[in-house]
Amino acid sequence: MFYIGCHLSAAEGFAAMGRDALAVGANVFQFFTRNPRGGAAKDIVPADVAAYRAMAEAHGFGTMLAHASYTINPCSATPRTREFALETMADDLVRLENLPGSYYNFHPGSHVGQGIGRGIELIVETLDAIMTTDQRTTVLLETMSGKGSEVGSRFEELRRIMDGARLGDRLGVCLDTCHISDAGYDVAGDLDDVLATFDRVVGLDRLKAIHLNDSKNPLGAHKDRHAKIGEGTLGTALLARVINHPQLRDLPFYLETPNELDGYAAEIALLKSLRKQ
Ligand code: FE
Ligand code: FE
Ligand code: ZN
Repeated sequence: MFYIGCHLSAAEGFAAMGRDALAVGANVFQFFTRNPRGGAAKDIVPADVAAYRAMAEAHGFGTMLAHASYTINPCSATPRTREFALETMADDLVRLENLPGSYYNFHPGSHVGQGIGRGIELIVETLDAIMTTDQRTTVLLETMSGKGSEVGSRFEELRRIMDGARLGDRLGVCLDTCHISDAGYDVAGDLDDVLATFDRVVGLDRLKAIHLNDSKNPLGAHKDRHAKIGEGTLGTALLARVINHPQLRDLPFYLETPNELDGYAAEIALLKSLRKQ
């Protein structure tokens, strides 16, 4: 099964996201757990969740990906900022138990001059506080571009987080094609070599999801600016290889390209046409 979808607005609830997904030809989707500008998450409405789950079942949807606010920073130097990240993530995870079996992806954070080692320590502390053995959600670390003092732009850093966290063997990874190219991994030049490196350092068995994005910037730019499919430095041919790669093709692919729904529908149709049986 080809699981392909995009980022959707959560403003109208889960059933609305299911309808939007169907409208753009998607069978998976991603959403932000709350408004990036902060504030409380919307209440979970059981009837809305039930309507979504019936739709997902009927249409064979793959795993939904809840994305934590990118404004939180679990490895900030400011205790109150770290506490806020921890409380937010803990609350997200409690809510996601209403949708068992989902993915919860987060940006490891920015160490803001404390150093990668201290950043990793603080991320591990956060994960140790929020992950429990009875959780049905899989927490994913996203591969980052290395913008500013971001942690997680080297596969080794993700490995150290997994090794450090008490329940680290339950963590997965979401690989963002734009971010890893911006981080300096030459996906466009040698996809197989990048995947071999990922496998050696993290393990391909830990890879659970792909953010399928083109990049506005060249290899190693540490910028993190997503481009539409075929309008960036990665290009359509490379992204077609990604969705067909034997080691990746069974994973869910989520577009985070700068698009409205009609743009996503066009990209999903294009990618379906490029998918090999
Ligand atoms: Fe992200
Ligand atoms: Fe991403
Ligand atoms: Zn990004």
